[in-house]
Amino acid sequence: MATGRIHSYETLGGLDGPGLRTVVFLQGCPLRCGYCHNPDTWDCRGGTEATVEEVMGRIRRYRPYHGRDGGVTFSGGEPLAQAAFVAELAAACAREGIHTALDTAGYPLDPTVERAIDACDLVILDIKHARPERFRELAGADWRGMLDVLAHTARRRQPVWIRQVVVPGWNDRPEDILALADLIRDHPARQRAELLAYHTMGQRKWRQLGLLSPFAQTPPMSAAALAPLQQLLDDALRQ
Ligand code: SF4
Repeated sequence: MATGRIHSYETLGGLDGPGLRTVVFLQGCPLRCGYCHNPDTWDCRGGTEATVEEVMGRIRRYRPYHGRDGGVTFSGGEPLAQAAFVAELAAACAREGIHTALDTAGYPLDPTVERAIDACDLVILDIKHARPERFRELAGADWRGMLDVLAHTARRRQPVWIRQVVVPGWNDRPEDILALADLIRDHPARQRAELLAYHTMGQRKWRQLGLLSPFAQTPPMSAAALAPLQQLLDDALRQ
């Protein structure tokens, strides 16, 4: 049975998939997003080692709170960096009738990564930017993994929620949003496309780790500024 490295748990997550959810934050991420609010998840040697059965024990304990619509979300870090572990966890949840969501920024496909994706009921795909050069500028890596997961879920008609964090002055121009619409428009199982407001709550962690975020001086994105961009995305996706 696979073991994995866990950063932490959130017991009553309301933002990471439908209903109330147990969120399992997996340790380790190959990207280095300038606005990451969990830079303490990056190091794949950090966190705490756990077996599938140990994680399932936590999940079962919180299950009464999931209600009819909730479930478990695998987040991170990048959960697909521990694909074998996630595949086993998702399969164990499926055997117990627990809904699973995979909150990922994408990962290059191989048979194990595909198994992990396919084992989850929903994929929440965080698209950093819909232009490869801007994606690399933000994340310090190319976007192949993101495209792989987008294409794979489209081929399998697997339900996806698309998300993009909007940062003032970085990706808040109409052309940024329209590029995102072009990239995701044809996905046959897209259920949602949501813009999320950049916030500065992660900056404290950057400072604690002795790191300097490129967005250290960037103000949060206001709800008032985000709303017309969400409307633009919604309108563009209806065309
Ligand atoms: S993909 Fe997520 S966890 Fe990884 S660096 Fe980017 S924001 Fe942070």
